[in-house]
Amino acid sequence: MIDETPVLDDHLHLDPDSHRGIDAVRDFARVGGTHLLVVNKPSWHLGVEAETGEDFREVFERTVEIVDESSSELEGRAWPVLGVHPGLVSRLVDDRGFAPEDARDLMRAGIDVAAEYVESGDALALKSGRPHYEVDDDVWDASNAVMRRAFDHGADLECAVQLHTEASEDLTTVAEWAEAAGMPAHRVVKHYAGGRLEGPTPSVMSEKDRLETAAERGEPFLMETDYIDDPDRPGAVLGPKTVPRRVRWLLENGHDTAVRIAHVETPKRVYGIDTEATLERTE
Ligand SMILES: [Zn+2]
Repeated sequence: MIDETPVLDDHLHLDPDSHRGIDAVRDFARVGGTHLLVVNKPSWHLGVEAETGEDFREVFERTVEIVDESSSELEGRAWPVLGVHPGLVSRLVDDRGFAPEDARDLMRAGIDVAAEYVESGDALALKSGRPHYEVDDDVWDASNAVMRRAFDHGADLECAVQLHTEASEDLTTVAEWAEAAGMPAHRVVKHYAGGRLEGPTPSVMSEKDRLETAAERGEPFLMETDYIDDPDRPGAVLGPKTVPRRVRWLLENGHDTAVRIAHVETPKRVYGIDTEATLERTE
């Protein structure tokens, strides 16, 4: 471990079958990583072309399985974050001929199934959002409606909702939608965030400049890699060892408070998880 601190990667993917899978978790643990939030891979990456909400269940089951396996490799543990990738809307509308409203309904149904896993305690949080690229207004509206369904569940289940969105430093409008649904804005997490953000809690991509901004700001934040475990896109995102390495770097540069914020306080505030109590103390 690194100076006895828990080290959480707030957002990464593991391919249960075809790529590195559990080896990526071993790499993470070897350099001091202790806790993981594992987000299911986009359904179509696992060969699932969903036609009903129930079709997402296979994706969720496989994620829950690899999370169980991951936990046994960690001094802390892993939790699943389940949902429907917002990019699915384009796949449905552009490639499969869905009307935007039908895409919306299917994606909402997938979110409803993900919420069942949170309700039963098999998943920690939900994942939703909207495309990070330009889309037609009706596709944008459909995407926002899916995201708001996730907020309804977040309110009911008192769980966090991770979002994939356009790059932005101000998502106060989205945070207001969450509050209108009955969930506190800080339980909305923007994944792939920069170092500063208004509205949701930023899950900061672990590049040095972004982390420095977040650390100096002193506000709640999380750290992630968005490791995608995809053999076709090896350099697309950060590798699984990045968060522990950057934690070490932050500590070397005097950012002890920021490390505590990102790995103890913010996980507790956002997800209600205790990254210290879930560590095996091997003295
Ligand atoms: Zn991701």
